[in-house]
Amino acid sequence: MAIDLAEAAKEKGIRYFLISYTDLFGVQRAKLVPASAIRAMAKSGAGFAGFATWLDMSPANSDLFAVPDPDSLIQLPWKPEVGWLAADLWMDGKLVEQGPRTVLKTALAAAADAGFELKTGVECEYFLITPDGKAVSDAADTADKPCYDQLILMRRYEVITEICDAMLQLGWKPYQNDHEDANGQFEMNWEYDNALVTADRHAFFKYMVRSIAEKHGMRATFMPKPFINLTGSGCHMHVSLWKDGANAFEDEGGELGLSPLAYHFIGGVMAEAQALCALTNPAVNSYKRINAPVTLSGATWSPNTVTYTGNNRTHMIRIPEPGRFEFRLADGAANPYLLPASVLVAGLAGIAAKTDPGKRLDINMYTDGHKVRGAKKLPLNLLDALRALGKSEVLRAGLGAAFIDSYLKLKYDDWNAYSRHLTQWERDTTLDC
Ligand code: ADP
Ligand code: MG
Ligand code: MG
Ligand code: MG
Ligand code: MG
Repeated sequence: MAIDLAEAAKEKGIRYFLISYTDLFGVQRAKLVPASAIRAMAKSGAGFAGFATWLDMSPANSDLFAVPDPDSLIQLPWKPEVGWLAADLWMDGKLVEQGPRTVLKTALAAAADAGFELKTGVECEYFLITPDGKAVSDAADTADKPCYDQLILMRRYEVITEICDAMLQLGWKPYQNDHEDANGQFEMNWEYDNALVTADRHAFFKYMVRSIAEKHGMRATFMPKPFINLTGSGCHMHVSLWKDGANAFEDEGGELGLSPLAYHFIGGVMAEAQALCALTNPAVNSYKRINAPVTLSGATWSPNTVTYTGNNRTHMIRIPEPGRFEFRLADGAANPYLLPASVLVAGLAGIAAKTDPGKRLDINMYTDGHKVRGAKKLPLNLLDALRALGKSEVLRAGLGAAFIDSYLKLKYDDWNAYSRHLTQWERDTTLDC
């Protein structure tokens, strides 16, 4: 039985609850509700005007209700009198089909019907920058190869350990923190879990990192490519599918320790990769991370082609060890719910169709990618990705027509807003035409 939130408030000393949902653009929206009102609110939901957020609604729509999932309760480690709750969206007595958390739950339920449980682990890279957003926060963090740099990492000891201590306290089993490949960039890893648990944690992690960074006078950003010459922020997702408590991707006798089922799943993800980009790389800026020229460090660490490999970080999909694969395409702008939902739908379609991912490539894609024949290229911009998503029957069937139509409508608006900008590059190259 779900926990009683009013009782939990008394026990844990929670004075306020944040009833929170993530909209289609990944923005977290919330109402701050005093504990005295939580019992009624947990039943009816907190009310919102849906049009005021990215959900493709009309100002004339009736109230949107965010009904909290008591199992998702997280007491803010840096402000324990507040309890955060992930919510599902309802309107006119029905679940809102395009609500990102509902999209994921629907995809997970379809997998469960076939006996499968998706487990994921995400690596949310981020930059610590100055509050005005213009530079990395540590002016001395300028090395060409700053990855794993001990000295620079330890200059951020206070903020990194406050976040890691929080994850320890929350029982997420964090196990490592490091300085990443770009100046100002960090990564913190915690253990994989059921995909809905990981998605809620992913959403909360982004909020927590931003909040704790602000406390320390900095700003955290998950923007895919905040500095054009530096490596961008990925959000790699590690994936395994479980059946009857056992990892169905693991197969001792299989190539690299993966089962035929896992290869079909990978085949499905590769078949839909160009369309997936619209969801896993959802920002205009996302396309400056993938397909990028070499960065200051010598490698972008992001893919440009639809290929898979063994333990080699230059491809879209990497198989680092038996029993799982790593989806390296997604970036920091990916919606925590739509990322696993879309990869799952593509993978299940691959299982159903027994899709063959083809032969693994073991080459360095950055130096020898041009020699590969027949491999699909990733979209060069958001518009190409949106067009691919519009054409994907697999994603429409698995994620629902209501969701796809709403998402495409808002994202085309986003693309059009971007296109209306006059850039300095155009002036520089065209004034004298
Ligand atoms: P990388 O080598 O890509 O930098 P990390 O250690 O940063 O890897 O992240 C690996 C992630 O993969 C972690 O979240 C880890 O818990 C997760 N993971 C490990 N095994 C599995 C599995 N079987 N299924 C899903 N995720 C897994
Ligand atoms: Mg009002
Ligand atoms: Mg990592
Ligand atoms: Mg990394
Ligand atoms: Mg990785």
